[in-house]
Amino acid sequence: MSLAVLKFGGTSVGDGAAIRQTAQIIRDAVTRWDHVVVVTSAMGKSADPRDTFKVTDLLLNAARSAAAGDSESYPRARRLLADKHHAAIEATIGNADERQRIGEEIDQLLSGFEMLCASVRVLGEVTPRALDAIAGLGERMAARILAGAIRSVGVMAEPLDATEFIITTDRYQSATPLMGPTRERTIARLMPLLQAGVTPVVTGFIGATLSGVPTTLGRGGSDYSASIVAAALNADEVYNYTDVDGVLTADPRIVPDARTIEVLTAQEMSELAYFGASVLHPMTIAPLVERNIPLRVKNTFNPTHPGTLIVHRSDLAPSDSVIKAVTAIKDVSMMTVSGGGLKGVPGIAGRTFMAVARTNTSVLMISQASAEQNICFVIPKAAAPSVVAELSAEFRQEMEHGEINPIETFDEASIITAVGMGISETPGVSGRVFSALGAQKINVFAIAQGSSECAISMIVAADRCDEAVRAVHALTKR
Ligand code: ADP
Ligand code: ASP
Ligand code: MG
Repeated sequence: MSLAVLKFGGTSVGDGAAIRQTAQIIRDAVTRWDHVVVVTSAMGKSADPRDTFKVTDLLLNAARSAAAGDSESYPRARRLLADKHHAAIEATIGNADERQRIGEEIDQLLSGFEMLCASVRVLGEVTPRALDAIAGLGERMAARILAGAIRSVGVMAEPLDATEFIITTDRYQSATPLMGPTRERTIARLMPLLQAGVTPVVTGFIGATLSGVPTTLGRGGSDYSASIVAAALNADEVYNYTDVDGVLTADPRIVPDARTIEVLTAQEMSELAYFGASVLHPMTIAPLVERNIPLRVKNTFNPTHPGTLIVHRSDLAPSDSVIKAVTAIKDVSMMTVSGGGLKGVPGIAGRTFMAVARTNTSVLMISQASAEQNICFVIPKAAAPSVVAELSAEFRQEMEHGEINPIETFDEASIITAVGMGISETPGVSGRVFSALGAQKINVFAIAQGSSECAISMIVAADRCDEAVRAVHALTKR
């Protein structure tokens, strides 16, 4: 029995034309595999320049402005969402009764949205838990329409809310799956459908706690949903359909001549995703590793292109280029804890990172200090004020005695990361990277080599970020 999981991103379901194209891809896959499970994102932006929003963004923005007391944005958002989804229904679903039924389901979900936003406005605040309930509505609408569109091309399909079987922690907005109950429930819910020849169309992005409260897996989390479902069902392959020809040597918005990478190892892909390649959610690879499930990133709008294959053994991903790809994370802050009091005093690093953890901030990168007397790390820029406040409170006494300096922050920073399995074993790679940056007079403020040793990260000034990406990209071989 062969089973493939096909995930479609926001642009692949961005409008009626995209949904029809996606339905064709699914129809083809159904002829090649015994079983197919589809995972969908919310509707994103289509190629039409009049299309101005992505559904998840609009849902979240409306909820936040409702919390700020705005009573006009969410009714307006409802109208925009109704127009977008109804237009997609008209363009994709052949049968009039089906159109009517799915249209009513969309209206019901949108009434729920308006009611949730109305409560948020009355309360004057929106909790992470409420944001998750609201944000997940986009996938719930998209799954219903996509299932209808698939039926319209002659394939039996049923929409499923992943809240029924992806069971997660209650860390709202970035929940992680509890694989035991998730596996059990996914098998129980999906296998009977698959055996009956029905293609399940599962909502990406969302799950629920053990007690049934809706959660989300973090922005871009539909990729992660697909690999959770694939791991639970022990799938043979995952196909991640997006709007570019696979994983490219750099973000095409920064490097227009970036090229498709044919094969990547799971480790390389994890580093790329973690360090900013938004083509896959950073957690996507983890559930697939244990079960050796390959993943292919493909372009919905160029389906004959082979895209990128992600494999679990490095000998299957040969490369004649040591640096395979380069990524960037913009909008980060570099923090430095320094002072004479750091030298030889145990526990300062521990206290520093405990203080950061109390602010619920994840540290993106820790750099080797150039002098013994400082600890340098990088966090998302938005978290900088609370981290500085917490560190200043933690080291108040040491600062009063002059043993630790006031926390230094460098707010206009970016992380550039070069990725490739050969980086650790090939002499001179970092030298070449620094020379390339030096030739452009780009200063490197800190360096870190990832624990997996297939990545090297550098901090540069934010206003030189794109140039730095292009300079390092020139080192990837054609
Ligand atoms: P989807 O909605 O299909 O999940 P995303 O917008 O989340 O799509 O991810 C695809 C986008 O990721 C591409 O359109 C591209 O702009 C961006 N991207 C950034 N870095 C890379 C990279 N290295 N390779 C491919 N795409 C990248
Ligand atoms: N719709 C969600 C988001 O925009 C999840 C996804 O697209 O992967 O973040
Ligand atoms: Mg995505």
